[in-house]
Amino acid sequence: MEPHDVERDLSEILYSEQQIRDRIAQICRQIEIDYAGKDLLLVGVLRGAVMVMADLARELKRDIEMDWMAVSSYGNSTESSGVVRIVKDLDTDLAGRNVLIVEDIVDSGLTLSWLKANLESRNPASLEICALLRKPEAEKVHIDAKYVGFDIPNAFVVGYGLDYAERYRNLRAVAVLAPHIYA
Ligand code: 5GP
Repeated sequence: MEPHDVERDLSEILYSEQQIRDRIAQICRQIEIDYAGKDLLLVGVLRGAVMVMADLARELKRDIEMDWMAVSSYGNSTESSGVVRIVKDLDTDLAGRNVLIVEDIVDSGLTLSWLKANLESRNPASLEICALLRKPEAEKVHIDAKYVGFDIPNAFVVGYGLDYAERYRNLRAVAVLAPHIYA
């Protein structure tokens, strides 16, 4: 759906579908250079990273593999709990692999710092992070993300895979959710 389909639920459109597409293409050109001659395994974090994974993977002009993990996240709240639990683990052995974690957003950084440590213990050849969005002002743990789409203000956003109570994931843009929706 488009922003105008849920216009009253959104207070600001941060990035349009086209802006996201253009930025993902730029990131892909960099990934192609950085991983030239190397295997590449994209690890998507369900469910928020589904859209970015789908677009990133298809934009890459090279072979990749994909695997998925699900970790516990927000539920219906808009505050990061920092409590992480593996709901679905990877099917792939990471030993010796070049792994790129694909995430929707780095907020406090708590989820990714936990995930990074967890995957690091599986002895990949390399482990990097690609996140479409990052909220620098919300950072509690520093996350060294090699590829970041956009730095955004510290507001609760939805769309392009990001939900509020499982809604808005299919919004094509990234938008700030109007406070009256979760107040
Ligand atoms: P972190 O652990 O970095 O605080 O964020 C963990 C997860 O919280 C993210 O992967 C994402 O699923 C969710 N999250 C963080 N900020 C937002 C936001 O602004 N909107 C939505 N919909 N989810 C968010």
